[in-house]
Amino acid sequence: MSSKLLSKSKYLNGLQCPKLLWISFNRPDLIPQPDAVTQNRFDQGNLVGNLAKQLFPQGVDIPTDDFMENIRMTKELLKQRKPLFEAAVMVGQRYSRADILSPVNEEEWDIIEVKSSTEVKDINLHDVSFQKLCWEDSGVRIRKCFLAYINNKYIKDGDINPHELFILEDISARVEEVGNDILNRIDEMFEIVIMADCPETPIGPQCDEPYECALNGFCRANLPEHNVFTLYYGGKKACELYNLGITEIAEIPPIFQLNEKQQIQRSCIVNNNTHLDRERIQLFLGQLQYPLYFLDFETFNTVIPLFDGTHPYQNIPFQFSLHIKETPESGLRHISFLAKGKNDPRPDLLDSLSRNIGDSGSIVAYNKQFEEKVLKDLSIAFPEYADRINSMLPRFIDLLVPFRAFAYYNPSQKGSASLKKVLPAVTGMDYMGLEIGKGDDASLAYLDMTYGDLSDEECLTIREQLLAYCGLDTEGMVRIIEKLEEITNK
Ligand code: SF4
Repeated sequence: MSSKLLSKSKYLNGLQCPKLLWISFNRPDLIPQPDAVTQNRFDQGNLVGNLAKQLFPQGVDIPTDDFMENIRMTKELLKQRKPLFEAAVMVGQRYSRADILSPVNEEEWDIIEVKSSTEVKDINLHDVSFQKLCWEDSGVRIRKCFLAYINNKYIKDGDINPHELFILEDISARVEEVGNDILNRIDEMFEIVIMADCPETPIGPQCDEPYECALNGFCRANLPEHNVFTLYYGGKKACELYNLGITEIAEIPPIFQLNEKQQIQRSCIVNNNTHLDRERIQLFLGQLQYPLYFLDFETFNTVIPLFDGTHPYQNIPFQFSLHIKETPESGLRHISFLAKGKNDPRPDLLDSLSRNIGDSGSIVAYNKQFEEKVLKDLSIAFPEYADRINSMLPRFIDLLVPFRAFAYYNPSQKGSASLKKVLPAVTGMDYMGLEIGKGDDASLAYLDMTYGDLSDEECLTIREQLLAYCGLDTEGMVRIIEKLEEITNK
C-alpha cells in the first residue's frame, strides 16, 4: 500500500490545515493519541454506527481489520446488491469507506453517512463528497447521498427505535455543490504531502474549526505564558495580533483596540498585579442571604439515551455536593450525593437535594445557568418536585458574575473566569492533587464505574475521587467568598 494514499480522514485534515495534512502523512508520530474524552466520543460514534445498521436489516457487515481484504470483499459483495456496511474502495491514490452503501435499483447505490451530531455540518458534506468521488471513479453509480444524524427530539420509550432516533436527510444537492472543485483540491493536497518540509501554517481559527486540532499543543508549545491566544475572548483579535508578529499580551501596542476586560488583562500582566473593583465585589456579596447553600451538580450525557423519558445528549445529574453555612459565624456542613447502581440516578438525587436544601437563603453556584437548567429539566421529568424546584430557582446567586465582570482579575487566570482558574488565583487551592480534575473526566469516571467492567475496588476508588472532586468545587466557592470578604474589608 502506498504511503501517499489519501483517505477520507486525511482529505478532511487537508481541508482544515496544510500543516496538519503534511504531518499526518510525514510525521504521524507527532499526533498525540486521543485523550479519554475524545476516545469516548469515538466509542459513542461506534455505538451510533451500529445502531444505524438496524435501519437496513438485510445489510452485510464487512470486517474492517484487514484493509485489503475489506476492499476485496466489497468488490465481491457489490455484485449481490445488498446494503453494505463499511464497504471500502481504492482508486488511484484515494481510499474511502462508506458507513452504509445501499442499492436502489438495478444499477445505482445511495451513500448513507452516519453521524452522532444533531445537524448537517459543512464538513459532513465534504466527507460525503470525497466518498462519492471515490465510488464513482471506481465505476459504482451513486444516485443520492444521505446523512443519518441524531434526532435530539427523540424520547426514549422502551427499546431504542432507530427509525425515530435517526433523521435521514437527503444532502445530494449540497454534496454536489461542495464537490465542484474537489479534484483541484486533491491535487493541491498531494503537492503539499510530497513537500520536503512541513508548511509553516500560522496558528489561526482553523485550529479549532471544524474540529479541535490534535496538534494544538505541538503548534503552541513555544508560545510565551501570557500569549495573545489567552486574551479574554480574543478570537479573531488574537489571530490578527499573532499575524502581526505580536505573541505576548504585554507587547500589544496601546493603539491596538482592546475592550475593557482585555485592557485589564494586559495591565495586570505588565504591572504584575491583581485588579480589584471593591465596590462591585461588595455589591455582589451584599446579595448573599444566610443560610448559604453552595451547590454543584455533576452530570453525564450519552448520544443514545439510557432512560425512558430522556432524549439524546440530555444531561443526567448523578452527583451533587452541597456545602452549607447557616450564619457568617457558623462552621461548614457538607452533604454529598453520589448515585449507586445502574438505575436512573435522578429520583434519589432529587429526594436527597430537597431534604437538604432549606426553604430560605441563597443557593450559590458557579455559572448558575447550568445548575438551573439541570433543576428545570428535573422539574419537567418529575413534576411532583416542580413546586419545590420552582421555589429554589429565584434563590440562585452566580459566583461567576464578579469574575466574568473582571471585578477581580489575576494574571494567573490567563484570560479565563472559570472556577478551575479562579480558585487557585484567589485562594491558592487547586485541583492538582486530584485524580479527577474536570467535569468531563467526572462524567466518564461515573459511566465507567456504573456501566463498565471494573472491580469493586476500582469502583470504590472512583467513588472517592468523584466525591473529592465535586466536594472541592463547592468548598472552593466557600473559600472564594471568604477571600472576597477579606479583601473588601481591608
Ligand atoms: S494546531 Fe492549527 S496550525 Fe497546527 S496543525 Fe493544527 S490546525 Fe494547523
